[in-house]
Amino acid sequence: MSTKTPILYIVIPCYNEQEVLPITAPLFLNELDLLISENLISEDSRVLFVNDGSKDTTWDLIKGLSSENQRYQGVCLSRNRGHQNALLAGLMEAKEKCDITISIDCDGQDDISAMKDMVKEYHNGCEIVYGVRDNRDTDTFFKRFTAQSFYRLLSFMGAEVVYNHADYRLVSSRVLKEFANFKEVNIFLRGMVPLVGFKSTSVFYKRENRIAGSSHYPLSKMLSLAFDGITSLSVKPIRMITGLGGIVAFFSFLMIIYTFVGYFTGNTVQGWASTCSVICFFSGVQLLCLGIIGEYIGKIYLETKARPRYIISEKTDEEKES
Ligand code: UDP
Ligand code: MG
Repeated sequence: MSTKTPILYIVIPCYNEQEVLPITAPLFLNELDLLISENLISEDSRVLFVNDGSKDTTWDLIKGLSSENQRYQGVCLSRNRGHQNALLAGLMEAKEKCDITISIDCDGQDDISAMKDMVKEYHNGCEIVYGVRDNRDTDTFFKRFTAQSFYRLLSFMGAEVVYNHADYRLVSSRVLKEFANFKEVNIFLRGMVPLVGFKSTSVFYKRENRIAGSSHYPLSKMLSLAFDGITSLSVKPIRMITGLGGIVAFFSFLMIIYTFVGYFTGNTVQGWASTCSVICFFSGVQLLCLGIIGEYIGKIYLETKARPRYIISEKTDEEKES
């Protein structure tokens, strides 16, 4: 446990949330005050809203809140950049000013009181604490089904994510400073944060219904998030093409034998065997080649991201220096 109480920034992306913000903002502040009164976090802790180019009065509300109470802060993006980018902007903004961040949606669906457990885990030495949903009883069957398929698809495609964890998590500024070296532009935070390493754990909570307003994650956005998640974390789909190419090539080969047999036993129209053989052979070879080229493109793709190859978390000579 560190000797001084850590400064906490609660980072909250907001997009067209004028209905729910006036209700949830005081809830976040209350939780912050509670944690301060219990001496778990420093008095300099803040609630940081990121306005993601809202088209309603969200930004005015945030400005109003921050003039009322200095514990509210806000940053405004120049336009709507989506949940992940907005969250990243907030985290990068906060990392210089605080010791720990907790990211959470502003709709009150995630149990705010789980923050206390998260901060306690930080005091126990964890640098990342994932908030994991206990149940999905409050979701509709459709949402539950699509969300579960989303996690299954992600893990099947080789993008490892913490099951039933969205973007409610505690991340220390130390982890965020390392994370700043991940320069890629397609970001999928819940899949990328585990890549940084460091000690982590999970806390469990119940997810409630949205307090007001409506979800900004319809099926189309969820699909695009899943696609981003897969393509930014894994080259497995490309590998599957290579596999498919191999299988097709194999069956084409069998087909060629079959046409030859047909030709020699005399059961064919003139020209059929040669045409079939050529089509089968080349379609197999083409798919195989596409897969192999794809494999290389996958490698180039990962290279252009220029992720750090390793991260040093500790050094034996550190203590002498400080
Ligand atoms: N959000 C955002 N930019 C967007 C869409 C959503 O900052 O383009 C924010 C939104 O204000 C909320 C969070 O991301 O705080 C999660 O969105 P939502 O609650 O609509 O998603 P759901 O919980 O239904 O998956
Ligand atoms: Mg929500």
